[in-house]
Amino acid sequence: LWITLEGGDGSGKTTQAALLEHWLREQGRSVVRTREPGGTEVGVLIRDIVLHHRGDIAPRAEALLYAADRAHHVETLVRPALARGDVIIQDRYLDSSVAYQGAGRVLDGVEIRDLSLWAAEGALPDVTVLLDVDPATARQRLDAADKPFDRLEAEKSAFHERVRTAFLALADAEPKRFLVVDATQPIDVIAEAIRRRVSTHLS
Ligand code: C5P
Ligand code: MG
Repeated sequence: LWITLEGGDGSGKTTQAALLEHWLREQGRSVVRTREPGGTEVGVLIRDIVLHHRGDIAPRAEALLYAADRAHHVETLVRPALARGDVIIQDRYLDSSVAYQGAGRVLDGVEIRDLSLWAAEGALPDVTVLLDVDPATARQRLDAADKPFDRLEAEKSAFHERVRTAFLALADAEPKRFLVVDATQPIDVIAEAIRRRVSTHLS
């Protein structure tokens, strides 16, 4: 079972991934928790470039770096874990690329999706949880967390609005794969909604 969490910066993906992992482990499940970018050693190097490089990266180069991270991650970590029968909880996947490199950077979303699918040899998760939050609320959370901003978290609010709209459009297009959750709700209400959905995929 492969679960991905999507949503803007500050939407609470990491918090929910941790809660879901805990709940699944309590039931004795083997869980692999991972993320993109940066789920592998190669991925950590790529993550450092895309998040910490000072100055601009050409949008197509950035898209290819994310795709490279994804290709390596899917082949070396995700597929083997699925083959073992583990549950994978993954922070961000190709929907993030369509939203950020596509809508955010104004590249063609369909091309970005095709690039990702090529990189991942068509691999798609069983469940994708979209934690939907308005950029203003997300911004407040990130400010309250008081950690240094990544290159992209610091983007203007119009960028984050485009990203949000793109995520919602993706969910609309694939209602079977997506669970959209209002991420301004209390943490445990969100966690319960996710558990309900994940339960339907567990045997
Ligand atoms: O999910 P996480 O906070 O670790 O992501 C780090 C940063 O990378 C975020 O600021 C996010 O906006 C950005 N990102 C991106 N395109 C992706 C994945 C992440 O721009 N495909
Ligand atoms: Mg972040």
